[in-house]
Amino acid sequence: MAKVYYNGDAKEAYLQNKTVAIIGYGSQGHAHALNLRESGVNVIVGLRPGKSWDQAEKDGFAVRTVREAAREADVVMVLLPDEHQPKVYKEEIEPELKAGNALVFAHGFNIHFNQIVPPKDVDVFLVAPKGPGHLVRRTYTEGAGVPALIAVYQDVTGEAKETALAYAKAIGATRAGVLETTFKEETETDLFGEQAVLCGGLTSLVKAGFETLVEAGYQPEVAYFECLHELKLIVDLMYEGGLAGMRYSISDTAQWGDFISGPRVINAAVKEEMKKVLEDIQSGTFAKGWILENQANRPVFNAINKRENEHLIEEVGRKLREMMPFVKQKQKEAVVTSAK
Ligand code: NDP
Ligand code: MG
Ligand code: MG
Repeated sequence: MAKVYYNGDAKEAYLQNKTVAIIGYGSQGHAHALNLRESGVNVIVGLRPGKSWDQAEKDGFAVRTVREAAREADVVMVLLPDEHQPKVYKEEIEPELKAGNALVFAHGFNIHFNQIVPPKDVDVFLVAPKGPGHLVRRTYTEGAGVPALIAVYQDVTGEAKETALAYAKAIGATRAGVLETTFKEETETDLFGEQAVLCGGLTSLVKAGFETLVEAGYQPEVAYFECLHELKLIVDLMYEGGLAGMRYSISDTAQWGDFISGPRVINAAVKEEMKKVLEDIQSGTFAKGWILENQANRPVFNAINKRENEHLIEEVGRKLREMMPFVKQKQKEAVVTSAK
């Protein structure tokens, strides 16, 4: 079993007398900056002029250009969208890195796939919360935290891991548990999880179920409740008690159907395809496609996004959620607290 680090395993001292530059003030950026500051760390924020800049100033931070922030800082945490990082890094961060500084990420993609090649004389590590930024912030204010992964890619000071743990503690992650991994493992499992299960697998499963019911003549509204809306209740039970905890709460009929029909839907062929998805991630094929797609201004991404937004399940869902004020309210909160 992997070792899990908690508060007692991390020493704040590794961030004392250091300046941390948070580059970017979006979902992760705002959460890290606020949590670090409230943990007593000296934080500055690096941005381009715009919405995020104004928000960070309103929150009381000293805001600089990315280049100035990188110059002033000992620890530079890069919290820009992954596809923008290589250019900003090359032009504004790399020229300002000094020997012994720490270059930090919340996802290993750009280092692992060589889109950013750091100089040999700086520490490079990651602190990757396993949850969205607004949750990193909210749980911290509630005295808890979101679990995180740490990984060291380059350790020139001999203190990279201790500094990563101190950072994880300052954002609240060691209250929940921190696991050590590698850039390779973090990057590949993160991509696989979101593609095969959490995002891609789930949206395709929901759509296939919805379409099957609608094509068989059932009302789209009923199909929406069965295949999408109720998911949250099931996922909450799994989150709290694993598969068994969920199965304890559902009816025996539902559990029998789970046992008998689940493996027919997610069958050996699906698992074979998952292995191919993983292979594309491991070989760099997925990364290359996404990098080129961005360079081409996202023609495929935008076309699919438009088509997906026009799917009947979205049309029906928009109408039904209008009539469920408690759901709508949550949606608005999510938009506000993600500080985008
Ligand atoms: P967001 O898209 O939420 O934030 C982007 C921020 O970067 C904004 O403040 C934006 O400012 C700023 N920005 C964008 N381009 C530039 C630029 N050229 N120069 C200066 N600032 C710029 O990013 P996330 O928080 O989602 O992701 C950040 C990192 O965290 C990524 O590596 C991601 O993989 C990782 N991560 C994200 C998680 C999540 O749940 N979101 C979970 C775990 C890790 P502006 O207002 O000016 O556009
Ligand atoms: Mg991800
Ligand atoms: Mg039911």
